[in-house]
This record gives sequence, structure tokens and C-alpha cells, in this order.
Amino acid sequence: MGGLDRQALAARAEELAAELAVHGVELIAMTFVDNSGVVRTKAVPLRRLAAAAAWGVGASNSFDFFAFNDEIVPGAHSQGPVGDLRLHLDLDRLTVLAAQPGWAWAPADRYDQDGEVHPLDQRGVAKRAARELAERGLTAKLAFEIEWMVTAETTPDDQNSAVLGPAYGYARLSQHADYLRTLASTLDNQGVRVEQIHPEYAAGQFELSVAPDGPVHAADTAVLVRETIRTVSRQHGLRATFTPKFSAQGVGNGGHVHLSLWQEGENVFAGGDGRFGLTGVAESFSGGVLARLPGLLAIGAPSVVSYLRLEPHHWVGVYTAWGLENREAPLRLVTGAPEERSRAANLEVKCFDQTANPYLVVAGLLFAGLAGLDEETSLPEPVDVDPGSLSEEDRQRLGIARLPVTLADAVAAFEADPVLTGSFGAPLATTLMDVRRGEIGIFEGKTPEEITEAMRWVY
Ligand code: GLU
Ligand code: MG
Repeated sequence: MGGLDRQALAARAEELAAELAVHGVELIAMTFVDNSGVVRTKAVPLRRLAAAAAWGVGASNSFDFFAFNDEIVPGAHSQGPVGDLRLHLDLDRLTVLAAQPGWAWAPADRYDQDGEVHPLDQRGVAKRAARELAERGLTAKLAFEIEWMVTAETTPDDQNSAVLGPAYGYARLSQHADYLRTLASTLDNQGVRVEQIHPEYAAGQFELSVAPDGPVHAADTAVLVRETIRTVSRQHGLRATFTPKFSAQGVGNGGHVHLSLWQEGENVFAGGDGRFGLTGVAESFSGGVLARLPGLLAIGAPSVVSYLRLEPHHWVGVYTAWGLENREAPLRLVTGAPEERSRAANLEVKCFDQTANPYLVVAGLLFAGLAGLDEETSLPEPVDVDPGSLSEEDRQRLGIARLPVTLADAVAAFEADPVLTGSFGAPLATTLMDVRRGEIGIFEGKTPEEITEAMRWVY
């Protein structure tokens, strides 16, 4: 029954288990990311790999209703403690963990006991979005940019406790040369192609970018990179956090997404006769994303704390605008040098953060872009200044509006958008917003300081 070929899965898992044994693997951790963006896990010993691949590992349906603080919130589709799903690891992403001896990792898909994909499975929805894109003859390449902060394990709440020196300063890099090198080589050994690593603006902050990949694998990689950073940090006496806002003041951690679209081997973000070389396909797709950014924030900036980060003049993009290399626009078009445009041109979505479930981010962006293709949405005039520095009248004249300033506003925008709710499907769309409402309730009456503190070590 269902779409799983259990026999073939078991046979392939047996083969892979023999390879893993050579690498000394004893346990395999499977991860899935819940609706609050928390990476949850179950693990099996190596000898159980084939059985787990074929039959899955049990996981309660209630995971769809977990809030960031492990509270299980109410939801219209909740079955409470009843029901069971099966975690099926993706054998194609099975990875020996280089900094966690004896362990391997794989992302999991959630199926029901009959072998059907669970309709609320976030990775399944990302796969479906990628399939819908493929039906138009298009593929997408994405990369999540990872920003994080480290502090000393002994004084974790002091943002200045581990890293000395100025923003982007070489002094920060040299102080942590061994840490950063170990990180890059660990990721390399895990098949992740690191493209860049550097000290970022805020105290204790670093950033790492990776090569673009297909939509689902890009989301998998975001999970693997973050968990690897956490592990390697601990081994260097550091504590890492990806929280959007470490403290109420200052600069936050983004979860920017770079996206390009490909048609018959050509990047449609280059070589067109539109503005900055955009093709009509790239413009409509980007227009679809821009038009739906307010609702998409409920997916890409899904926490109460997300809205403490979304301030003007913080390079996060809080107005409905796009622009060439404009770091204050939530949609920043990157073209690269003329000779590399056909390879490098892409759209960067800057307003999202890492409390977002990367699979839902992928799905949301593709669904919004697909709607743009259907509706042949055009992009407004690009913006080449900080939209936050314009007068309110100028912004109105240019059709530039502020993105939602609270999670509740983003939820309202999501629910008012039939394309988004329809594409995610009613059970998932409703459940996502139930979880958002649950988290809004948890933070009712709390100050920014209390919010940042409560979230600081969750992500
Ligand atoms: N740290 C900023 C953020 O919160 C982004 C800085 C940058 O443009 O890289 O998104
Ligand atoms: Mg950055």
C-alpha cells in the first residue's frame, strides 16, 4: 500500500549499512523540522537501519502542534495524543557526521502507517512545490545563508564573551581560526560545499554560505549546517545560537534565501531583456513572491521574536520593495559580474530568519512564485535607496508599504491569501496558523527583553 517500495528501501539500506559500518557508525539520527522551526529527532542503531527505512520509526501526530517551548498548542486538526506517523529517513541524504563520532544523520519524511505521505509533512510539501515547478519545465536552486552568534559556554548570555574585535574584523577570524577551520572541514567531509565564512556585524556573530542546490536538498543542508555548527561550537567551548534577535537591541541573525530558476539549463535571472537582464519568467516569479511577502512572513519570519529583528535600517528589508544589490530591500537582486551572470544571478530574500522551517520556506517561495507565473505578475519600479529613508508620501507614491510589524499581522495576511492557504492545503495552512496563534498567546504581555531571553537558546 502507499507510495513506498518497502522491499527496495530495505535492500538499499542493507547496502548502505555495510558502508556505514566501515566508517564506525553505530547510530543514525533522523531529523524533521516542526512548524515552530525546531529540529526534532529520533535515532536508531545501525542494525535497525533497514527496518527503519522500510517501516519507519514512530512519531506522534502531536508534533504538528509543538510550540518553540515544547508546549503542545490546540489546533483544529489536532488529534491530541492519538495517532501515529512513521519517520522514513531519506537514504539519499544519509551522511556520516564528521564531528559526532559513531553517528550518521538523515532527514526524515513523515508518512502514515499505510505508506502515504502525511499531508502536514513539511518536507513532503517542499517536494510537492518542486514537482509543481518541474511541471512548468523549471527547476530552482536555493541556498540558505546561515548567520549565528557564539558566546562562551561559561557565560552564554553575554554576547561579548567569546569574540573580540570589530565587525567583519580579521581579529575575530584569527581569534577563532581553529574553530572556523574545523567547521569548514567538518562540513566539507559531510558533503556540504562551503562557499564563504566570515565574522559578521554583531558581537559574536559569524556567517557561512553554501553552494546552491535543489529546493529540498537546500533545506536539508540548512538543517545539517546549523546542527554541525552547534556541535563544533560546543567542542570549542562556545555556545551557538541562530535566534533572530539575541537581545532586544542590536543586529540580528537572518536566514536569507538565495534563489535562481532554471529552464532548459539556462538561468532565467540572466540574459533576458527586462530590467537588469531579467527574463519574463524571472520577473513574474519574483513579482509573485513580492506580492505575497506579507503573508509569506508567517512562514519565513514565523516567531514573535522575528518581529523584533524586522526593523528598518538593519539590512533585513521591511518594506515591500525590490532592488539591485539593495540590502534594505527584502528582495535583493544579485547579478554578479557580467561574465558570471548566467551562473550567478539570483534573488535574495532577506526578511526571513532561522526560526522558520526551511522546508516550509522553500514551499512558500515556490508556491508564491508559481502564482506569479500564472498571473504574469510584473515587478514595480526597483528601489535604489533605503526605503526606510524615504518620506511616507514618497513611499506611498512608489507603492511601497511596510511589511507586517507583528506576527499577528503576518498571520492575518497569510490567512487572507487564498493562493498561500490553498497551496499549502487547508490542514497544514490552518495548523501553521494555529501554532503561530499559540506562540502569540505564550508571549502575551511580555517585554522584548523577556521574548529574546526565552528564545535565545531554542534555535
Ligand atoms: N544580520 C542581518 C539580518 O539580520 C543581515 C546582514 C547581511 O545583510 O548580511 O538579516
Ligand atoms: Mg550576512
